Amino acid sequence: MYYFKKTCYERGMKIIPILFLWQMLSLIPFSVLLCQPNPYPQNKTWTQKRIYQLRIVFHAVGTQNFLNKLNEKIIQQFMEELESDFSGQTQKHKSSSIPVSVQKIAAQDTHIRFRLAALMPNGSPFPSQITGLNLHPREQISWTSDQASLLPKLYGWNNQKYVNIYLVENFHPQNLKALSVLSTTEHIGHIVLRPDPNSSHSLSHEMGHYLGLKHPWGKGGSCDPDPDLISDTPSQTSPLFTCEENKIMQCGSRAMVENFMGYAPCRSLFTLKQKNHMQKILSQSLFQDILFPNPSPLGQKSLDGKKENLNDLKKNTSQLPYPNPTSDRVWIPLDYQEGILEDLNGQILMKWSNTEPPLILPQLPPGPYLLHLVKSSRKKRSFQILKK
Ligand SMILES: [Zn+2]
Repeated sequence: MYYFKKTCYERGMKIIPILFLWQMLSLIPFSVLLCQPNPYPQNKTWTQKRIYQLRIVFHAVGTQNFLNKLNEKIIQQFMEELESDFSGQTQKHKSSSIPVSVQKIAAQDTHIRFRLAALMPNGSPFPSQITGLNLHPREQISWTSDQASLLPKLYGWNNQKYVNIYLVENFHPQNLKALSVLSTTEHIGHIVLRPDPNSSHSLSHEMGHYLGLKHPWGKGGSCDPDPDLISDTPSQTSPLFTCEENKIMQCGSRAMVENFMGYAPCRSLFTLKQKNHMQKILSQSLFQDILFPNPSPLGQKSLDGKKENLNDLKKNTSQLPYPNPTSDRVWIPLDYQEGILEDLNGQILMKWSNTEPPLILPQLPPGPYLLHLVKSSRKKRSFQILKK
């Protein structure tokens, strides 16, 4: 947050003549007038936490029958759930059932977001016609965790550049819903899951593992004071599959069944320290190619200006597609989740949804175009884009 501060001295110099007169007429001491406690912090530098955006690709591996069932909507649902879970929306929706003591230590927003890869690594569109989804026919319905750990070797894209998520039809044993595997050689993992509408928030749970979080019970079996090495999650001895208040006491305190890193059906949040841990992991150079550069470098902005505030800054630098005019591509501000590019006759030229920025303009003749963008809050805004 940016604060504008004037020192006690600066205030005094400008109003001394007036104050002198006032002092003559009243008993109010100068010191009170000149040196009221400054409500603002001393540091003028404005910084905002960086928003990390990870590039995701899905690989579906299985029988033709399984692959035929997958469609754009399923991928969108995964992306929307990640967005909601990591931006704090899920928690907001469920806040009436989350105890205040838990809400107090919850991260309101992890500042971590996800976007689908828009193109194949060679620059071509996805053959599946579904952005972000690769299809790999294979006569295998059920996967053990050992078999699933081979998926990256068979089908993975460079895991220094993409978060690889594999969709499989089933696991063996069947009670396994999803898994994440950390590669011991490359230190970046991958995620395997079933596209199961009932395994709610499984992807966010696995993404938590991917970003360095453990289960709240750690290895389990004892009331270790800090089994997951995250100090604001209460100790647990074992997973809980219920949210009933009278069944969730462990190690002398209420287990945080709302945490995404548990297995309970009411999971809906990460804690502040879990958020910090994930951000710390993402700040490592290892992840730099998986992350998109922020559309505007808010995190590095340092301001000394006296008029600019947070709202001005956002308005000025982060809300506009750029470059504009452009020759072939436009970076979309982070807030916008989908959009449509039209010509001036209202003919839709392309649709954009949760894709990897920048938006690559098709082979369009030079001239003006309209870009209609929609935020996750469904708020809409239109821009004129000039193609050079
Ligand atoms: Zn887990």
